Amino acid sequence: MNSPSSQLIDPFGRHVTYVRISVTDRCDFRCLYCMAEEMTFLPRAQILSLEEIYTIAQAFCELGVSKLRITGGEPLVRNNVLDLFKKLGKLPALKELVLTTNGSHLAQMAEDLKQAGVKRINISLDTLNPFKFKQLTRTGELATVLAGIKAAKRAGFERLKLNAVILKNRNHQEVGDLVQFAIDQQIDISFIEEMPLGAISEHSRLESYYSSPLIKADLATRFSLIPSLEKTAGPSDYFTVAGTQTKVGFISPHSANFCSQCNRVRLTVEGQLLLCLGNEHAVDLKKVIRANPGDTAYLKQIIRNALLIKPEKHEFNLKEQPIILRYMNSTGG
Ligand code: SAM
Ligand code: SF4
Repeated sequence: MNSPSSQLIDPFGRHVTYVRISVTDRCDFRCLYCMAEEMTFLPRAQILSLEEIYTIAQAFCELGVSKLRITGGEPLVRNNVLDLFKKLGKLPALKELVLTTNGSHLAQMAEDLKQAGVKRINISLDTLNPFKFKQLTRTGELATVLAGIKAAKRAGFERLKLNAVILKNRNHQEVGDLVQFAIDQQIDISFIEEMPLGAISEHSRLESYYSSPLIKADLATRFSLIPSLEKTAGPSDYFTVAGTQTKVGFISPHSANFCSQCNRVRLTVEGQLLLCLGNEHAVDLKKVIRANPGDTAYLKQIIRNALLIKPEKHEFNLKEQPIILRYMNSTGG
């Protein structure tokens, strides 16, 4: 929801109240749609320290941001990341501290994350078949993620949601089983259309495209989906599965444009403030804080000014080579 107290307003009148922060580009998985098999990760000097991430997050909260999502890469593989969660959890203006994870470290960390003040977690899960899971993630183990989901449920977060990227002929046949799994676990699920971020050679993004309307039609053969009144000012379009508490969301960058509702910006692990996921417009906040240590007023002025270049909408085209050369892991999905 847009907060009237936010000082971050773009030329199209949109209030920014939500920042997604990538704390690492590294990951223990190599999902086919997210990364190439061989990836080069950034050297340490090039990425923000945890203290620098905290400084920038604090500045955003002082400017009216009330929601922070910690993501990556896989955020839980960053050394000492719990210390960051603990500090962020104490920011007075912050209403929602949330996390997106592949679930591989949740079995060990769920309880500590809850104690640190994390309210909700999105856990990526594209298939319930262990062999397919290995194929899609290249290095992941389904059992570890299922144990992570169990631990997160036990820890008692306000909300748990699964994220599933659906690819034609890879996992599109499983959308019904994934919804049934979410119902059984009494959690929610969102289906995501694959986005052309970064160059991958493993598959053609055009051939693997499986649209949200197709997923909805598949689900309609097994479930009754009732449009939900829930509005998050975000890209998800929500439905409730009749007779259950489970919500099913559709994130449809291709089939439904959600830019007019956009309330968010992203901070990359290199300290680039990205004004739009589907454009290159960015401001280098690492440079600002390293050149002006301790000058929060200046940092906040730079952030306010950055909003003036937030583009009106994203530009994705599945038929062409990606115009966005960043991979999702360095962007912060
Ligand atoms: N590693 C964590 C995870 O997988 O949840 C957090 C980072 S990951 C980049 C965040 C989300 O982006 C995941 O749900 C993932 O499935 C999704 N994602 C990655 N690459 C994508 C792409 N090319 N198109 C659409 N979603 C993508
Ligand atoms: Fe890692 Fe998440 Fe990307 Fe998969 S989607 S490779 S888990 S960052």
